[in-house]
Amino acid sequence: MPRVYNFSAGPSTLPEPVLERAAAEMLDYSGSGQSVMEMSHRSPEYDAIIVDCERRLRSVMSIPDNYKVLFIQGGASMQFSMVPQNLLTGSGRADYVVSGQFSQKAYQEAKALGEIRLVASGKESGFSRIPALDPAAFDPSADYFHICQNNTIFGTRFTTLPETGKVPLVADMSSCILSEPADVSRYGLIYAGAQKKMGPAGLCVVIVREDLIRELPELPSMLRYKTYADNDSMYNTPPTYAIYIMGMVLRWIEEEIGGLAAMKLHNEKKAAVLYDAIDSSGLFRPVAAREDRSMMNVTFVTGDKELDKKFCTQAQAEGFFNLKGHRSAGGMRASIYNAMPIEGVEKLAAFMQRFEAENS
Ligand SMILES: *Cc1c(COP(=O)(O)O)cnc(C)c1O
Repeated sequence: MPRVYNFSAGPSTLPEPVLERAAAEMLDYSGSGQSVMEMSHRSPEYDAIIVDCERRLRSVMSIPDNYKVLFIQGGASMQFSMVPQNLLTGSGRADYVVSGQFSQKAYQEAKALGEIRLVASGKESGFSRIPALDPAAFDPSADYFHICQNNTIFGTRFTTLPETGKVPLVADMSSCILSEPADVSRYGLIYAGAQKKMGPAGLCVVIVREDLIRELPELPSMLRYKTYADNDSMYNTPPTYAIYIMGMVLRWIEEEIGGLAAMKLHNEKKAAVLYDAIDSSGLFRPVAAREDRSMMNVTFVTGDKELDKKFCTQAQAEGFFNLKGHRSAGGMRASIYNAMPIEGVEKLAAFMQRFEAENS
């Protein structure tokens, strides 16, 4: 079967050259006579792989020297509790914005660990927009301020970052990292599960300002950022294969795309094709408020659940996979992450027009 256009929100489509190279290196990585999966994580070959992956991430994202890059297992969800466990060390208070389901989960987890305040919630709008924020209402002595920068399920995103002053901004960037340039110095901590934008599941990347990494001997070793920082993410076995693939994805961004500024242009173009198709349609309606629309997850509905279902079924028969919206949001969602080619989006837009003509 030929490869399909995979609009899955995660795990999601990866660049074909990366998959081809992984396939070519499967039985013999670089003359080692082994696959990367089988290699000792303490071997010189593997050390070069993890060092290269971190170096490329630092270079692609222009990560300042006073930030550590940590490779952690447990997905983005484990950061929902690792962040409060490691960062609630001053006032014991933190501010959270709930703008979707993942930030709701992060908020719930944190609530068990400190004095957590809900600064704003998008619940009333059905999470179709980012709630308005008033910096005057932020807690100036909070240990951190948490947002989910791109809401994977509802298809909204922060277009500007909240002005948190001295309070470290913590962002879940699972579904938007590497899609455009980011000023890392604006954040205290960034975390992102790899399976949306960077590689296979099983790896979560944490980028954290050094002064936020604390001793915390009362925490289990595996839950302390310090353990990962002190051991170059090799305290125990890291997710070796996921890191290897991520390194190749970064290389693809650097060498074939030309970095994050170029990546952003690609992504803007793709999103424009799809949003134009929705806006000019008499059948499909967008879910997210225009000013908060995600560049990565495009959500839309027909308003008729049966017709939504028919659309997804027919789309799949034509090679457009995983367009069904998240179970909590319904409708359709096209996740058009970095590795989705523009042709995939153009062909989907053309299919939407055909479907509309046949069903109205
Ligand atoms: C998918 C996702 C998560 C959950 O990631 P896991 O790796 O499955 O724990 C958290 N936050 C956002 C924004 C996501 O898109």
